[in-house]
Amino acid sequence: MTTKFGRLADYPRVPLSVLPTVIEAAPRLSTELGLNLFIKRDDMTGLAFGGNKTRQLEFYFGAAQAKNADTILITGAVQSNYVRVAAAAAARMGWDIHVQAEERVAGMDEIYYQTGNILLGDLLGVQRYSYPEGEDEAGADAAIQAIAEGLRAEGKKPYVIPLGPGNPPLGALGYVMAAAEVVAQLQASATKMDAIVIASGSGFTHAGLLFGLRALGQNVDVYGVCVRRNSGLQRLRIASHCSALAEMLGVGEVVLDEDIILFDGVLAPGYGQMNPATADAIVLTARCEGLFLDPPYTGKTMAGLIAMAGNRTLAANSNVLFVHTGGTPGIFAYGPQLQHWVEP
Ligand SMILES: *Cc1c(COP(=O)(O)O)cnc(C)c1O
Repeated sequence: MTTKFGRLADYPRVPLSVLPTVIEAAPRLSTELGLNLFIKRDDMTGLAFGGNKTRQLEFYFGAAQAKNADTILITGAVQSNYVRVAAAAAARMGWDIHVQAEERVAGMDEIYYQTGNILLGDLLGVQRYSYPEGEDEAGADAAIQAIAEGLRAEGKKPYVIPLGPGNPPLGALGYVMAAAEVVAQLQASATKMDAIVIASGSGFTHAGLLFGLRALGQNVDVYGVCVRRNSGLQRLRIASHCSALAEMLGVGEVVLDEDIILFDGVLAPGYGQMNPATADAIVLTARCEGLFLDPPYTGKTMAGLIAMAGNRTLAANSNVLFVHTGGTPGIFAYGPQLQHWVEP
C-alpha cells in the first residue's frame, strides 16, 4: 500500500472483498443524462451479495481478530446491508453475531420485516434485539455494550462495532484503500474523471474515498448525496471523520472544508423512504443498463446525480464516476413501494 496513507498498514485487516471491482461505462444512461457516466461496481465486492460494507468491515474484523474475539455485535436499520455482510463475515470466521435492529423507517409493511436482508440474516443465524429508536446513536451504542457485558459474563469474547461518530472511523479505512484502487484503474485506462458521486450515510464511504484521493494528490470533485441527514449535519460528520483519519494515519489534514460537497435535494421524506425521483432513477438505470439500484442508498444517490446533471452542477458531457455501493437485497423489502411507482 502506498506510503501516502501513513500508518494504514498498522491497522489489522481481514480480507473479505473480491478486489478490484470493475469500472464500467454506462453508455445508454450517459446519453439519457448528457454525461459520460462510469460506474464503479462496488455492488460486486463478493461476500454475501457484496456492497460497500465488505471493504469497511475488513478493518473491524481485523481489530476483532487482534483482540481474540469470538462474537460480533452490531447495530443497524432493520434492512441493514451492514448487518447482512457482518453476519456473513462472522459465519466465515466461525464467530457468533448479535444484532441490534433500530426502528429507523416508520410506516413500513410486513414485507419489510420479513424479506431482503432480514431473510438473509436469518439464514446466517443472527441473534436479534430491537432498539426502538432510529436517531439515538449514543443510546444504541450503550444498549449494545450492555448486551456485550452479558455475553462476557457468559464467557464469550464480544467485539462491538459502534455506531456513534465519536468512535475512530475504522470502516473508512476501507475506502481510503479504495481510492488507490480507483486512481490506479483510471490511470491504466487513461481516463480523467471530472466528478465522483457517492452515497453519504454514516459517511465512512464518502470520507474515506475523499481522504484517500486527496492524500494521493487527486483533486477530483467528490459529491456526497445525503441519504440519512441534511447537508448541514452531514458536513460536520464528514469533516470529523476526515480529521479522525488524519490523526489515525498520521498524514495531516489533506481534506479542506471546500472539498466536502453535499447534495441533499433527494433526501425527503427521510432515510429509507421512497420518493418519485428515486423510483424514476431506479427504473431508468434498470432499463438503460440492466443494473439494479436500491431505494435507501444507490437509488437515491442516482436520483441526486440526475438532479445535479439537470441543474448543471455536473457539466454537460463531463466524465462522472458513480460509485455503486450495493444494497441489492434490500430491493425486495421495498417491493410494494416500488411496484407502486413502476409503470408496466
Ligand atoms: C451503508 C450503505 C451506504 C452508505 O455508506 P456509508 O459509509 O454508511 O455512508 C451506501 N450504499 C449502501 C448500499 C449501503 O449499504
